[in-house]
Amino acid sequence: MTTFPWKTFAAPLAAMCSNLVAGAHVKCENGKQIINQNNGRKFRILVVGSGLTGCLTTLRIRQRLKCSHVINHHQKNQVDLHVVERASYPAGRFGAMAKCQSTIIADIGAQVLSTLNPNDCRARGGHGVSMEDIQLADEIVRDLESDGLLDAVASEQLLGETSERMVWEGLWRHYYAPMGMNSILRSLLDKSNVVPSYGVRVDEIGALGDSIQVYGKARRQSADRSSQTTFSEQYDCVVLCVPSHDALATYVSKFLSKEARHVLENVGYDQRTCEAHFFSAEFRPILAKVMDERYELTVDNDKIEYISWQDPKRGITDMVMSQPCSLVVHGQAGLLEPLAESLDSTLSKLTALSKEKIQSYRIHEKSIRWEVSQMITPMEAVVADPPTNWQCLRGGKNGEIIVAGDFMTQSSYLGCVATADAAARAVVEVIEQDLYRQSQNT
Ligand SMILES: Cc1cc2nc3c(=O)[nH]c(=O)nc-3n(C[C@H](O)[C@H](O)[C@H](O)COP(=O)(O)OP(=O)(O)OC[C@H]3O[C@@H](n4cnc5c(N)ncnc54)[C@H](O)[C@@H]3O)c2cc1C
Repeated sequence: MTTFPWKTFAAPLAAMCSNLVAGAHVKCENGKQIINQNNGRKFRILVVGSGLTGCLTTLRIRQRLKCSHVINHHQKNQVDLHVVERASYPAGRFGAMAKCQSTIIADIGAQVLSTLNPNDCRARGGHGVSMEDIQLADEIVRDLESDGLLDAVASEQLLGETSERMVWEGLWRHYYAPMGMNSILRSLLDKSNVVPSYGVRVDEIGALGDSIQVYGKARRQSADRSSQTTFSEQYDCVVLCVPSHDALATYVSKFLSKEARHVLENVGYDQRTCEAHFFSAEFRPILAKVMDERYELTVDNDKIEYISWQDPKRGITDMVMSQPCSLVVHGQAGLLEPLAESLDSTLSKLTALSKEKIQSYRIHEKSIRWEVSQMITPMEAVVADPPTNWQCLRGGKNGEIIVAGDFMTQSSYLGCVATADAAARAVVEVIEQDLYRQSQNT
């Protein structure tokens, strides 16, 4: 990264950013323009998507900004970081959850957060993840663990043998989130001091002079949640943290090089169904016996890959034994089919109860068809000899349009840390170069 002598940046505050925003215009459905007043001196950054990559990107932008020696304290305060998310909570594939009786939760996307022990001599980077990323991922996890948001899985034997899970006793560290994977995303956002705008979908990225014009729709905060308002706002830097097809849908390609477009158009994900099944408390001892202290069970079934028992993740104690219990069923990769019938047959075999009896315990279920699940064709599979550390895409005049996501690395916590950190590095570079250009003009 280019660094410049400190004095170069002693430019007047008013000239801090070349992409001054005179006022952010929000266009309402009735066609009226609302002017959001700002002092015209902010450097506005938009992160699109509050999945794992988006939340880690905001954290790393804050941390990298703090460490920048070329951006002074006042200039750092002028950086305005926004996050928009089309869903109603920070979720994506990592933090999606199912709820029963409004308080009982089950993770219905990722089940386990896995890191490599950076001090193990067998630890190696690869598939878009460097040793520095592994070190960083470990630091973030330790922080979350000390906040009580992650619990280490005592032994890999407790986990199911899935095709994606990387197991190697002692080398990998696996964690569950007692308050749900979603609590990890919320904590990352809190640490970044950012409150996302939910129900906001970005539809198009365009250019307006030196600024980036972002168009989209926001759900109205009214009883009629179906009504939407359109908006159009200007930013100095935009980071898309969304799956490749969602990025393409924003017309971001026009800002990207041919090679970067090729990546977005050709990476591929598999699909699968996940279902959360909630049962009344009477079924708990029966399920506990079947699970036999394991957290996950790989089953011999055409449709189901494995069953994840949510009780041990939640640290269920005697106090809450009377509450419903839950299983999350992961379908075989590539299939988008309902799983309830297969689950009932499997449980019937395992418990020697009739399917009807099992159904009588069921009180709620939720199914998600993950049309975008885990990477099967990531960036490194579609580009011959990709540049080392190519972990995010950049476009626009000065690289101020950034696209990050697990497609650049791998579908895992480590992969998301790597791409998010690269995106944050790019954002800080854009700010520093902007300041440098300003200092040259004054
Ligand atoms: C079933 C399943 C199980 C998995 N299990 C594990 C596991 O055990 N361990 C593990 O490490 N990984 C696991 N993974 C992979 C991991 O969840 C993903 O790699 C990771 O969550 C990807 O995060 P992301 O932020 O890049 O993308 P996403 O999670 O897809 O997040 C993108 C976000 O952007 C939002 N968005 C998209 N377009 C727009 C738009 N135009 N405007 C506004 N918002 C938008 C979406 O709503 C979403 O919230 C699993 C994935 C699945 C599907």
